[in-house]
Amino acid sequence: MSEEKNEQSGYVERAVEMRQRLNQVSPSFCLAKWAQVSIHLTTGLTQSCYHPPTHKIPLEGLKENPSQLHNTPQKIEERREMKSGTRPKGCEYCWRIEDAKGDHLSDRHYRSGEPWAAEMFDEVVAKPFDYPTVPRYVEVNFNQACNLKCSYCSPHLSTTWAKEIRKHGAYPTETPHNDMESLKKSGLMPIPPNEPNPYVDAFWEWWPTLYPTLKTFRMTGGEPLIDPNTYRVLDWIQENPNPELELAITSNFSMKPEALEKFLSIIAPIKEKGHLKSFMLFVSVDTIGEQAEYIRNGLDFNYMWSNVERYLTEVQTGMVTFISTFNNLSVVRFKDFYDKVIDLRARHNTNFGRVYLDTPILRYPIWQSIYVLPPSYLAYMYQTQFHMEEKASQLQPDLYGARDTELNRFRRLCSVMAGENPYSDEEIQLHRGNFFRFFSEHDRRRGTDFLKTFPEMEDFWSLCQDAAKQRDTNRGQ
Ligand code: SF4
Repeated sequence: MSEEKNEQSGYVERAVEMRQRLNQVSPSFCLAKWAQVSIHLTTGLTQSCYHPPTHKIPLEGLKENPSQLHNTPQKIEERREMKSGTRPKGCEYCWRIEDAKGDHLSDRHYRSGEPWAAEMFDEVVAKPFDYPTVPRYVEVNFNQACNLKCSYCSPHLSTTWAKEIRKHGAYPTETPHNDMESLKKSGLMPIPPNEPNPYVDAFWEWWPTLYPTLKTFRMTGGEPLIDPNTYRVLDWIQENPNPELELAITSNFSMKPEALEKFLSIIAPIKEKGHLKSFMLFVSVDTIGEQAEYIRNGLDFNYMWSNVERYLTEVQTGMVTFISTFNNLSVVRFKDFYDKVIDLRARHNTNFGRVYLDTPILRYPIWQSIYVLPPSYLAYMYQTQFHMEEKASQLQPDLYGARDTELNRFRRLCSVMAGENPYSDEEIQLHRGNFFRFFSEHDRRRGTDFLKTFPEMEDFWSLCQDAAKQRDTNRGQ
């Protein structure tokens, strides 16, 4: 049986049992507020779990108390509310599910039922709401340095994007897009990578306390494999093995060859010597070949793929999950991309599932979401779905990995596309117009060619062009 299947089994049962335990404390009690944290070290923002909006980490007192990266006054207040039966406002995601008609499990139950959270139950219940908790599931980004400028990304998340915006300004969509000034005003612009960062300093102060009980640690970016902090973490693990730790890195896996060599030379022995429980590499790529390269500007698809092949060959029990942030440019060739994933799986899933695929839906910018496509594009989606189902039935189930999760995620995308569109006809016109404005400018600035890269989407391009013209006429331009 695959590692993933072992992990998945009992997931629902655990959540049902945990619901009962949580509700005995209070109907708004959730262990994720204590056990899980995302820390955005580049901007000094934090959230627990990842559903509520981020909030600022106060700098005052951070040096003396680095656990404030997680235990902020706002979170402590939310924990007080949770223990006393009040629902924190930011957890709307869960309250909506729990208030819906019928009997539903929310993430409050699922997350709290995960072993890394459940192990904290007695401690959290016994201690006062304001004790400085040490979380078990931590996600951080150290740095926004990135070698790519993906179409749906932004200057506050990629230095390459920021460089372009500094040179050419914002994109001329109806509301200017990726405008540096508005990002600055909203507090989203990060501390530049070459400047002192008190949040990163606090992280390293806190790390020796955090590490011994850590169960999951995820590093994202920017591009973490070009960041020295990532290697400092890996060196630490080498010197201080933690066989209970699940480590994960999200990467575009397109770094320079020297960085790849460095990464492989460190991660392979760590994994072989059993210094970790597991290592998952999340690789962001949204479809195949030149279309993938268009979406993620700067990507060399074949180079990235050969890097993944090397990783799977040299890091013998290392796993990979392709994260395809499913957007309207993923649709027409996703079936071919899936075949590549299947090929990799057939060759590398030798003893257990090592190759996974996840397809979260892209919601922003709306013009790149599947909502703006005409219904005719559903044909591509159904073809891909049938193809995936057929392939899934041919492969040995135990070596397949999270087959049902993968298929269900894709079926859900088809249902979303076939279902009621959340946007009005007028909004769709606005977003299609913006699609045309954004990618025309993209082609001009970046020397790309939409129609040459996506010949299957010529009709959609015309629709978007017409929408942009019509809106200009309506606005008297
Ligand atoms: S109640 Fe829901 S949104 Fe709030 S921390 Fe728990 S899982 Fe996250």
